[in-house]
Amino acid sequence: LVVERNRLRQTIDGLSEGIAAVDAAGNVTHHNPALDALFRALPRNEGGERLMMIPAPDVWADFDRVVAEARTVSRRLQLPDRVLGMTITPLTNQDGQVAGAVGLFLDITESERLERTRRDYVANVSHELRTPLTAMRALIEPLSEDMVRDEDTKKRYYAIMLRETLRLSRLINDLMELSRLQSGQLSLAPKPMCLRDILDDLTEKYNTTAQERGLHFQMRADELPQVNANPDRVEQVLVILLDNAMKYTPEGGQVSVEAESDDEKVTLSVRDTGIGIDPADQPYVFDRFYKVDRAHTGLGSGLGLSIASELIKSMGETIWLKSAPGEGSTFFFTLKRA
Ligand code: ADP
Repeated sequence: LVVERNRLRQTIDGLSEGIAAVDAAGNVTHHNPALDALFRALPRNEGGERLMMIPAPDVWADFDRVVAEARTVSRRLQLPDRVLGMTITPLTNQDGQVAGAVGLFLDITESERLERTRRDYVANVSHELRTPLTAMRALIEPLSEDMVRDEDTKKRYYAIMLRETLRLSRLINDLMELSRLQSGQLSLAPKPMCLRDILDDLTEKYNTTAQERGLHFQMRADELPQVNANPDRVEQVLVILLDNAMKYTPEGGQVSVEAESDDEKVTLSVRDTGIGIDPADQPYVFDRFYKVDRAHTGLGSGLGLSIASELIKSMGETIWLKSAPGEGSTFFFTLKRA
């Protein structure tokens, strides 16, 4: 008997799920360390053995109900630091009478979070796909019914359709890039590299863009030590940051790239004198699909910065920003010196 009892005790104590059992009178007969850990964060007031163990009167009311009504109760428990799944089942003796109840408590915080992320993701993707499709449909319909006779209007419609198609391709490319990144399929192999070539290429490209948009563009990076990174990915991050800087800076503004180095790392920054980002929005700009101006559907998908941040994190580096509304934004990221 003793051997049997100890074996049962060890099994219960070893479970990662929390367990509590009561007898027919509602007194606790078993509980395990996992249970204590799950409820650790709840404050305890005096109130008898039961409330010292699980300081939630509604849980004990459920136990009592299971014993009284001989039926299983299953529900979700929201605690300050986590979400639990709880199932309390009646225990019966040989005569089929209720002899108590056993409650099983499972930490489902992570699975709930994943489920919510998945739901948000699907909703966001659908929304982003629908917007350009709706726009295109509204133009294709009158065109296909021969309702648009004027050549100029036709041309304008085709131009919008082309732009929306490009937007869709960009969105799908971004989505695939993100999923490749998250599944670890993207090559990030670092090697000693020189930033000079990349920065020179970018200067050439963005000088033209800046001119077109009436912005001043400056590359302020003279002293550039070698870094240990993946050139394609570094360029990708810079392109995302520079595209944003140009997108969110009105005519006449300035965009610049700077580099600063210490013994260990080089910090690259992309600075603009644009619209800036409100402090309340700053923590979220690296999230997937986050756009400060939700209504401004024309500008982007809200995926650029999340790709940049995933890339930087996968390389073991950091990315952050400083910004003030109306004054401009600066995005920084580090690269280890070779
Ligand atoms: P998007 O494709 O919408 O630009 P991002 O992920 O690149 O998506 O950026 C997320 C949001 O952060 C943008 O929608 C914009 O509101 C804000 N943002 C990013 N860069 C800047 C910037 N340089 N200046 C002002 N706002 C910015």
